[in-house]
Amino acid sequence: MTKPRRISIFGVTGSIGESTVDLLQRTQGHQVVALSGGRNVARLAELARTLRAEVAVVAEAALLPDLRAALAGSGVEAAAGPDAIIEAALRPADWVMSAIVGAAGLAPGLAALTTGATLALANKESLVTAGPLMLATAAQHGGRILPVDSEHSAIFQALAGEDMTAVERIILTASGGALRDWPLEKLSSATLQDASAHPNWAMGQRITIDSASMFNKALEVIEAKEFFGVMPSQIEVIIHPESIIHSAVGFHDGAVMAHLGAPDMRHAIGYALNWPARAPLPVARLNFAALGKLTFRAPDLARYPALRLAQEVMQAGGMAGAVFNAAKEVALDQFIAGQIGFMQMAHLVNATLGRLSADPQLGKVASSLDDVLAIDHLARVTARELAAGLTKTA
Ligand code: NAD
Ligand code: MG
Repeated sequence: MTKPRRISIFGVTGSIGESTVDLLQRTQGHQVVALSGGRNVARLAELARTLRAEVAVVAEAALLPDLRAALAGSGVEAAAGPDAIIEAALRPADWVMSAIVGAAGLAPGLAALTTGATLALANKESLVTAGPLMLATAAQHGGRILPVDSEHSAIFQALAGEDMTAVERIILTASGGALRDWPLEKLSSATLQDASAHPNWAMGQRITIDSASMFNKALEVIEAKEFFGVMPSQIEVIIHPESIIHSAVGFHDGAVMAHLGAPDMRHAIGYALNWPARAPLPVARLNFAALGKLTFRAPDLARYPALRLAQEVMQAGGMAGAVFNAAKEVALDQFIAGQIGFMQMAHLVNATLGRLSADPQLGKVASSLDDVLAIDHLARVTARELAAGLTKTA
């Protein structure tokens, strides 16, 4: 008999985490090591009991007594706090899902890579803030990163068996998000509710709003550059409202290989879970006759300033990605709290990048987690300072 695969899931109570659990529950031959959640103790404990995890960790330290109580008699160990998440990520596992949202996902993902594990990476922020460090850590410890972002999974699949030197361009598709058909002049008055309704994908709230502003696509452009090692000029973004083509690769013979499927993250999660094999997945099958047509349009940079910022970040190199992501997280917090308007998010990120562009630290490529965390902290403080000086427009 083959040894059961040891699996850990960080961010298990979120959208990607729950979809990962859904797939795990349909398969056998695995043993769950660690599960982590942010604040939802009841759901974390329920999942830990169902999956018979060795340890469950809640991000907020003060919630440890609640988690202990919820796990009483289950045999599952309880732990709490960011350091406990990192410790859990250091427990030997074969396959680790990185599905915490935001820069908080970086340290646990890096820790898992130092064990030589395969890291299924939904947390795109890890590559945006510390791409070279993530790849070097994987290489140094014999680990591997498998992309879970649907676009990057699509590209990864289109590249299977291909030579990277034959790649001409990477074509990232974007739904355009909740506000794609709004008149440009109305965008600045978009409310939290307006920006939180994704036309095609069911996802966590933060990435849904980032889809409306295309900060999500901006992060993904940087993620693609880091992961696939292409030049910024080789990455194109195209709006494809139906979200059927998940992304594509153009080769120098003119051929384009694309991945198509229903907008269901279990495609990408399942591919990473079963890689290098393909296993049956419980996703809807495409009916081309029913679809009728697929449409495309070029993104308007006035509507999506985040895409222009992504270009600037890639040109700047060094740790500009960490500043960009941290400023974006602060801007998103401010928008969610009703402190700034929808279009002011890009304004704030731009201002933060501008303020820190002269900082000598920024030009360096991060060689450690501490380097990244220091820049992340500086960018958050700066963004909050700049936000305090903004008056909400619209
Ligand atoms: P989500 O908000 O639904 O879930 C996030 C998870 O992280 C939850 O378990 C939450 O409790 C936990 N968490 C939040 N803050 C934390 C913190 N500070 N420390 C520890 N844990 C914390 O988010 P999601 O939509 O599942 O997205 C997760 C990641 O996957 C993000 O990086 C996102 O960009 C990426 N992603 C998501 C989708 C999707 O369809 N949802 C698609 C592609 C990529
Ligand atoms: Mg994506």
